[in-house]
Amino acid sequence: NKQVVLRDYVSGFPKESDMNIVEGTITLKLPEGSDEVLLKNLYLSCDPYMRILMTKVEDPDFFSNYKPGSPLTGYGVSKVVESGDPDYKKGDLVWGITKWEEFSLIPSSLILFKIEHTDVPLSYYTGILGMPGVTAYAGFFEVGSPKKGENVFVSAASGAVGQLVGQFAKLNDCYVVGSAGSKDKVDLLKNKLGFDEAFNYKEETDLNATLKRYFPEGIDIYFENVGGKTLDAVLLNMRVHGRIPICGMISQYNLTQPEGVTNLANLIFKRVRMEGFMVTEYYHLYPKFLEFVLPHIREGKIVYVEDIAEGLENGPTALVGLFSGRNVGKQVLVVARD
Ligand code: NDP
Repeated sequence: NKQVVLRDYVSGFPKESDMNIVEGTITLKLPEGSDEVLLKNLYLSCDPYMRILMTKVEDPDFFSNYKPGSPLTGYGVSKVVESGDPDYKKGDLVWGITKWEEFSLIPSSLILFKIEHTDVPLSYYTGILGMPGVTAYAGFFEVGSPKKGENVFVSAASGAVGQLVGQFAKLNDCYVVGSAGSKDKVDLLKNKLGFDEAFNYKEETDLNATLKRYFPEGIDIYFENVGGKTLDAVLLNMRVHGRIPICGMISQYNLTQPEGVTNLANLIFKRVRMEGFMVTEYYHLYPKFLEFVLPHIREGKIVYVEDIAEGLENGPTALVGLFSGRNVGKQVLVVARD
């Protein structure tokens, strides 16, 4: 049972050598009386939050972080090999929390959804039809409270979550601008993902001036994925009663000393609501979300860009690549195709 295990706790930027590929053992039979599920993992999801779990934390209640020598855990698409839970049976396809290995024994009480629709690529259940999809949906519609015609700015806009936020905003008749870290990603945003405008934040020397150029009347919703300097510049450009759903702050995850944000007083002057959220509190919306998104996918009204890496042994490279912007779209890792 090939596994990707954490070598040791990580400080600073993660490296491929922070993880090892090892050969573990697993009995492909459920222990007697077990209520767990035995899974064959097909597609694994590379997610930025996984870096946070690699840090040694003093407060174990805050996050249940990875343990050196143990396989990483994360979201994935799997096939049920055996099940001690009557809700799942052999051959079912599921998505939810699993481990970075070929076969996993998982308590079904963790996050686990049965996959009912297979006329779309299975890998989508790591992205648009999985955790990042619900994140974009809940963050934009529930936390962002959008109104038609509003001005929306999205950072990390070509990624797993960002590309969906932009497309949801366009479906809501908003004006949408995205930022991303390369010319290719900017082209993708404008030519394939339907953003009205996009810019490469690495080439902008004065982000405040850049945002003023794209939003002369200000921003109603800023969907926050990166934090740091981008957030600080956005705070100078919000409109009265704007909203900032705080989804993530990837620019801060590898810093031992997080950057300060200096323009917070604008929240008062502009009466802006800034609100952090976690997707795990919104999974009750999953059926409603599927009803909304599946027809759009089938009709080609929403597209989804994936970046596919092959084989568990390439997992460390794929995961670390999220922090240099190597991925173009949702980073998926294929363990097996069926
Ligand atoms: P992406 O697919 O967007 O991949 C990460 C991207 O972040 C990279 O491709 C890179 O794109 C960008 N990035 C990396 N480092 C920096 C940096 N220092 N400054 C600016 N951009 C950077 O990831 P996801 O869509 O999966 O996640 C986006 C955000 O949403 C993350 O912050 C994540 O933690 C958060 N999240 C939060 C959830 C929640 O429940 N609150 C759930 C899921 C995700 P580029 O080339 O454009 O720089």
